[in-house]
Formats: sequence, structure tokens, C-alpha cells
Amino acid sequence: MKRVEPVKVALLGCGVVGAEVTRLLHEQAADLTARIGAPLELVGIGVRRPGRDRGGLPVDSTLFTADVLSLVKRDDVDIVIEVVGGIEPARTWLVEALTRGKGVVTANKALLAEDGPTLHDAAADGGADLYYEAAVAGAIPLLRPLRESLHGDRITRVTGIVNGTTNYILSAMDDSGASFAEALEQATSLGYAEADPTADVEGFDAAAKAAILASLAFHTRVRAADVYREGVTEVTAADVASARAMGCTIKLLCIAERGPGNGTGPGSVSVRVYPAMIPRNHPLASVGDAFNAVFVEAEAAGQLMFYGRGAGGAPTASAILGDLVAVARHRLAGVRAASESAYADLRIRPIGEAWTRYHISLDVADRAGVLATVAGVFAKHNVSIATVRQSGRDEDAVLVIVTHMAQDAALAATVAELRELDTVRAVAGVLRVEGE
Ligand code: NAP
Repeated sequence: MKRVEPVKVALLGCGVVGAEVTRLLHEQAADLTARIGAPLELVGIGVRRPGRDRGGLPVDSTLFTADVLSLVKRDDVDIVIEVVGGIEPARTWLVEALTRGKGVVTANKALLAEDGPTLHDAAADGGADLYYEAAVAGAIPLLRPLRESLHGDRITRVTGIVNGTTNYILSAMDDSGASFAEALEQATSLGYAEADPTADVEGFDAAAKAAILASLAFHTRVRAADVYREGVTEVTAADVASARAMGCTIKLLCIAERGPGNGTGPGSVSVRVYPAMIPRNHPLASVGDAFNAVFVEAEAAGQLMFYGRGAGGAPTASAILGDLVAVARHRLAGVRAASESAYADLRIRPIGEAWTRYHISLDVADRAGVLATVAGVFAKHNVSIATVRQSGRDEDAVLVIVTHMAQDAALAATVAELRELDTVRAVAGVLRVEGE
């Protein structure tokens, strides 16, 4: 039989994800060879500390190097897998690889959301494949369906739970009535939250993923800076109880939604991340623990739900290897995948133009006329009230108001004016309501 030359792979990063990539490459070598039509050969591993004990990984220790740029430039490297993370030096390495025509597989959501166009341009210049399934929602096959399977359809909305840490925290608050601080402590002790949880709890991680999803779904370049973002640190046990009373639960949602254009324009896209109440019968409400799920609505396909493990070494490595097989097969066939699709170039709508509903809790004195004064503020901003619920009496009354759909700018202006009223002691909580 004719001997087929191996496809040579450089792995950049050998931490939580990279170590699992080496393990799967080793354990599944025979199947991968059969699926690709040629063996894969790991020819170098770029890390920060090449001499570090890697605890029995199935790789030759001489493969490790700290000179990552030289590894990327090697003529015998066909494909670069990047699982280091961060903007630099990863961007320099990947641009170098792509412009030299090497296929790239990366899990680096931060880089793709911050400066994806630079990578896509380098891929176009070098005629190279750029795959990044692992960058959003870990093991869940999601980007390939958006960038291939749904290309004959028109996506109208993508709503996702794409951060496992915050989903664990909000699920724990919902299950046990715990405060945010208690639930975060629990998440940290179980290894779901990092020592510095800022990127997760302030919504930066979800915003990066929202930018990537919106770019693919709406054929428009969307960067992390275009995404409106609120984290979960202000969500209180009282908010969770109030959601429960309404038949809702609170989730950190990423929402990317097609909308109208400016007059005759081609349309617009709104991309936002915030904690919101969703009805308990919504498909995303039952996504508990640290799981991820993404709900896609398209004109012809209707509603689709993608669900699974959004992080962790092995699930993320599964997505990386799927991409690796695709890129390796393209190399053998002498083809590449379709390049970035950003032809629609839709206008990015500011948050003020988003249509949503608000759930507002007000601490008020239980006096005659208070409700009329509060209702007057809503009417002034053309925001219609759906329900009003009052609990407590005298100096401890709490008024919970849920609005109908209105533009976020009008809802925000209503809340700002409520804060100024003498009869309102405090605006105790403001949450958006989605998914109805
Ligand atoms: P990690 O455990 O911190 O590993 C990072 C690796 O990169 C380490 O091997 C480290 O080398 C190497 N590295 C860091 N800075 C370097 C530098 N300047 N030069 C050379 N090597 C450097 O990270 P991870 O959790 O595997 O995540 C990797 C990527 O996957 C990130 O983009 C992350 O967002 C993405 N991702 C992770 C998950 C997950 O569940 N962990 C899920 C989805 C996506 P040393 O080993 O020598 O320190």
C-alpha cells in the first residue's frame, strides 16, 4: 500500500485544554488516521515553561519549546492548534501561521471577539483554514451549524446561556435561595469559578462569545466592544424570589437579534448580555448547573436548541479535534473552507433601541397617591405596565412592576425618573424579562 505522508501539527499551549488534546491525539490515533486518510504527527508543543513536569502526558518531552514563534514558522508544520488564550502573543503567532498558509484551529474567544477580522484577513491572504468551534460553548457543535448548515436560511435571533460559571451561580441561587456571594463561594470551592471570577461574573466571557455568535449568525463583523454587557453581581436573592413568584427564573443571557435598518437600510443587529428573567417553561430555563445551551430561531428552520458542556478540558478538546480533522482533510484534498462571511454588514443597534420588558422593584411608603405618581412616570415615557404587585405595609411596602415591551431607552429613562421621586425610597431591583 502507498505510504501517506503525515499531517504535521504544532500545539500551542498544554494546559487544561492542551493536555486533553494530546491525550485524545494519542488515544484515538488509529481512528483519526482512518477518518482523515493520513496520520497526524505532533511535531512541537509551545508552552511558557518547557521544563515543567507534565504528569505523564503521552508525548515526548523533547517536543516542548518556549520559542513558539519559531515553531509556528517551521516549514514542516501544516496545522497550528492554539490553546494558550489572550490577545498577544497569540495574535502574532496565528497571523504568522495563517499568512504562511497553515491551517489554524483555536479556542481563543477573547482574541476572536477582540480582533477576529485580523485573523480572517490573514486566513484570506494565506489561503488557509481558520476554525474555532471550541471558542463558544465548548463541546457543543454550534459554530459549524451556524456557518454551514444554516447558510440557506435567515436567522432571526440567537439566545444563549454561554457561561457555565454564572449559570452554576444563578442555578444555585434559584435552587437554595442563596445570596450571590454564597453561590459564588460554592462555585469557587467546586472549581467552577476561577480565583478571579471577573471575566465570568461581569459578563466579559459571555460578551466575547456573543460577538462571535452574532458575527456568524448575521454575516456581520461584531466585536466584543459592540456588545452591551451587564454581569450578575447585582442579582439578589430577592430578585430570584420575585422571579419565582412570576413563574420565572434568572439566567445570564446572550442575545443577538436581527432588527430593522435605518429607513431603506439592510437591517440591523442588537447584541447584548445581561441577567434576565425567563419563564420556567422556556427551553433555556431548565439548563442547570454549569451547562450551556443556545436557542436559535430561523425563518425556515424554526426553533433549534443546542445543549451540552460548555467548558472543561475534554469537552473543549473534543471540539478542537473535530476542527482538526476537518482542516487536515482539506489539506489533503488541496481545498479550504469558505472564508469569512461578513457581506451583510448590518448596523449594530445601541442598547437603547433594543425592545425588552423590565421587572422593577420599588421600596415605597404605603401612602395614598403613591401608585398614581409612579404610574404617571411610566405613562410619561410611553411605557405600558403589564402587572403591579404590592407587598408589605406602611413604611415597608414593596411595589413590583412588570412592563410590556418597550424600547430600552424609554425603560431606562423611566427608572431614572422613578429614582428621583420623593415617594420612592429606593429602586431595589431592575431586571429585564425575556423569552415570552
Ligand atoms: P491554561 O490551562 O491556563 O493553559 C495555558 C497554556 O498556555 C499553558 O500550557 C501555558 O504554558 C501556555 N502559555 C501561556 N502563556 C504562554 C506564553 N506567553 N507563551 C507560551 N505558552 C504560554 O488554559 P486553558 O484553560 O487550557 O485554556 C486555553 C484556551 O482555551 C483559552 O483561550 C481559553 O479561553 C480556551 N478555552 C478553555 C476552556 C476550558 O474549559 N479551560 C473552554 C473553552 C475554551 P505552561 O503550561 O508552561 O504554563
